[in-house]
Amino acid sequence: MNFSELDISDRTVDRLAKHGITEPTEVQQKAIPKVFEGKDMLVESETGSGKTLAFSLPIMEQVHGSESQALVLSPTRELAKQITQEIDSAAGKPVETVTIYGGVSYDPQVEGAKTANIIVGTPGRVLDLLSSGQLKVDNLDFFVLDEADRMLDMGFQDELEDIISYLPDERQNLLFGATIPRSLKKMCDRYDIDPETIRIKKSQHTRNLDEKYVNAKSNNKLSMLYTFLEDRDRDLSVVFCKTKATTRWLADKLRKNGIDAQELNGDMSQKQREKTLEEFANAEIRVIVATDVAARGIDVDRVTHVFNYDVPDTADTYTHRIGRAGRQGREGEAITLLEPKDHDKFRRIKKRKSIPRIEEKPNLKDANV
Ligand code: ADP
Ligand code: MG
Repeated sequence: MNFSELDISDRTVDRLAKHGITEPTEVQQKAIPKVFEGKDMLVESETGSGKTLAFSLPIMEQVHGSESQALVLSPTRELAKQITQEIDSAAGKPVETVTIYGGVSYDPQVEGAKTANIIVGTPGRVLDLLSSGQLKVDNLDFFVLDEADRMLDMGFQDELEDIISYLPDERQNLLFGATIPRSLKKMCDRYDIDPETIRIKKSQHTRNLDEKYVNAKSNNKLSMLYTFLEDRDRDLSVVFCKTKATTRWLADKLRKNGIDAQELNGDMSQKQREKTLEEFANAEIRVIVATDVAARGIDVDRVTHVFNYDVPDTADTYTHRIGRAGRQGREGEAITLLEPKDHDKFRRIKKRKSIPRIEEKPNLKDANV
């Protein structure tokens, strides 16, 4: 199955192909035809399954001029920006987009909204602009709630209902989420929305991940990591450290030894972090050295390797970290470097799971470190 068979225009198909997107995911195969049919939809499909294009492709193919608009709501500004980016980079015809979120000035957003075909935004600022009359949605054809479940979890219910009160009755409602909570169904009932439901089963192979550990010492950990980064057949890698200072130090050492690494930590400005994440997503940087907090923004399918340079404190953190690799059925490897003092902690973290030890000879001469 390809996108042409889903009635996506040739030019859009071409642009998608430039980003390596040639085969629709399951949720895209099932949802796109229904969206084209004009049906209200409730779609449940796991994170990373391609929901953004599932709703945005058929919408971008249908909006035109100023007579036709779509409003896409997303729970966070990062996600809102990602959605806009994904639309901008896929649309095979001129589609005007605007992203509306709080914390920045109103003017560019208000201006952009005047001519936008697709308005992507977070609930607070969208409601703000609707109620002050600065955002007009008289020609709205499509209303999308992305991550509808998270939106309700985050307490946006009242804002959502207020927003809906501004929308024309004749519109297509598209609700997407990783789960469909009862509260969402109730909300549909209250608004007389009777959506068709699509549920995509979780893929069986989301965990395609080899976990390993290696014994190291404080004085050879760096060269051990270097050796792994050199020797493994890898695409993108995330290295986890406990402190911001270590991320800086380690990224610097790796760079000095010819590894293309960048730190990602909470000392960097939002702008810097976004830039680093974007470069990583585009594989312009191939190794990110991050703290746990900063790594929350990493959502990149091409990550094949996770290295725990420092052992995480809890089993949850461990699971979170290694979950960055081996997504969408791709092969992944998670390697934890253990100093003698770390073994007890690691035993608690891995619980009953058996994680094999591997041997590796560090081959970076200490002189270079
Ligand atoms: P979700 O919203 O379900 O969590 P996204 O829509 O954010 O997932 O997609 C996850 C990633 O998969 C994105 O990087 C996106 O570009 C990529 N992707 C989406 N559809 C395809 C496809 N058909 N083929 C390859 N990659 C895809
Ligand atoms: Mg999504």
